[in-house]
Amino acid sequence: MSTSVLPGERPDRLEEACAVFGVYAPGEDVARMTCFGLQALQHRGQESAGIAVGDGETIMAAKDLGLVTQVFDEASLAALDGFVAVGHARYSTSGGAASWEAAQPHISAIDDVLIALAHNGTLVNTDRIRALLEGRGVQFRSSTDSEVAAKAIGEVTQTTHHLRNGIRRAMEELSGAYAMVLASPSSLYAFRDPNGIRPLCIGKLPDGRGWVVSSETCGLDIVGAEYVRDVAPGEIVRFNEEGMYAEQGVPAGEPAACIFEYVYFARPDSVIDGQSVYQARRNMGRILAQEAPAEADLVLGVPDSGVPPALGYAHESGIPYADGIVKNRYVGRTFIEPTQAMRQLGIRLKLNPLRSVIEGQRLVVIDDSIVRGNTSKKLVQMLREAGATEVHLRIVSPEVGWPCFYGIDTDTRDQLIAANMTLDEMNEWIGSDSLAFISLEGLRASVPDARCQGFCDACFTGDYPVEIPAAVAKKSFLTKKDFEDVYAEGNQ
Ligand code: SF4
Repeated sequence: MSTSVLPGERPDRLEEACAVFGVYAPGEDVARMTCFGLQALQHRGQESAGIAVGDGETIMAAKDLGLVTQVFDEASLAALDGFVAVGHARYSTSGGAASWEAAQPHISAIDDVLIALAHNGTLVNTDRIRALLEGRGVQFRSSTDSEVAAKAIGEVTQTTHHLRNGIRRAMEELSGAYAMVLASPSSLYAFRDPNGIRPLCIGKLPDGRGWVVSSETCGLDIVGAEYVRDVAPGEIVRFNEEGMYAEQGVPAGEPAACIFEYVYFARPDSVIDGQSVYQARRNMGRILAQEAPAEADLVLGVPDSGVPPALGYAHESGIPYADGIVKNRYVGRTFIEPTQAMRQLGIRLKLNPLRSVIEGQRLVVIDDSIVRGNTSKKLVQMLREAGATEVHLRIVSPEVGWPCFYGIDTDTRDQLIAANMTLDEMNEWIGSDSLAFISLEGLRASVPDARCQGFCDACFTGDYPVEIPAAVAKKSFLTKKDFEDVYAEGNQ
């Protein structure tokens, strides 16, 4: 579903939550490679970007708010000279709105030695660890969970003087989703939570020139690195002059890779855990056509992530596919206040229907998800205004009825339409002629090549692979009906 782009409006979708990238390559321009890697991963976070480089002696870093190309230029990259680098592109999920302090990589000092940490995911138990560290005099510059992780690693390493020990001990304490890259002045580290919730893969540069770590394989492709494998759940991998060294940092838990990466977050040209994202999306459309057929003249996909499943749906159903919705590629999230008249146009800032294709046609419209439903409602209205005679919405994820606590920005349950309405009520409220979601079994069947043995599907099922602290759950799990019941009880 299209992202809301207006200031002060929460996006009506699950939002990406950061990209990480790392390079160990003596003799190469590692800052420039990291910059390109982050550009390939820009879809995962657009609020801030940062790169830290180690030169054997120390760490230098540059970061700021904005897109990668807004933050870095020739001069800033030239100042980042070294042979090991980590980079980050951020979408804020923990630590509130975009701020310079919350931008990553986070730098920590271990005695006189600096380390730089970049994190994709969300940690669910940092309040306790933060309080513990603050009690020991550790100072924080931001309210992010990632800084807590950086400081926790630094604190342990300070006593053991062994960075891998510091990472391991921190992994034993931290709970939640994390795919992290860390640079010391002379080594690169990559490590992942025991359930492997967020993706992280390893690549090798040709001719033994070095190693690359990236949230997605599209980040490897752009620098010419060949995919080697994914970082395993609970694993720590180190790259330095001795090559690549991997060890199990903490025991692997139940595998729980985020299945939503295949639906929406990842780029279609990425391969996650052996499964092509593009092919998975085609499969979703094919299976949805079997599960929820519709009588229609054309199949449309909501750009970008709705297009591959729309092709799959069209192929399976025999209904022709058409490009009927055009996306403005240059409207990102904006902090510039639009006029009131533009606000009313809403969705049209980003998506515009092709009247010449749509007029007089019965449409099947394929989208990736429905979160609050506002954007779907506007989309259906926009298509009808462009002359569609029927709009049948088909969604390639099951109903999102639960919030995500693992690195994706979602609303509380009372804001999620599927937690508060039946299917018929949703269809009526959105204004579609019919509405159907892929089944959870259908979604799982869409990723047959994924090597991991289990997925996180908590936003559809409420079955959380990592326990959510009671205080957090209490705030987030009440539906509108629950709120009404609490209110009614209070009035008795
Ligand atoms: S709750 Fe949903 S979005 Fe979050 S990690 Fe699990 S599957 Fe992914």
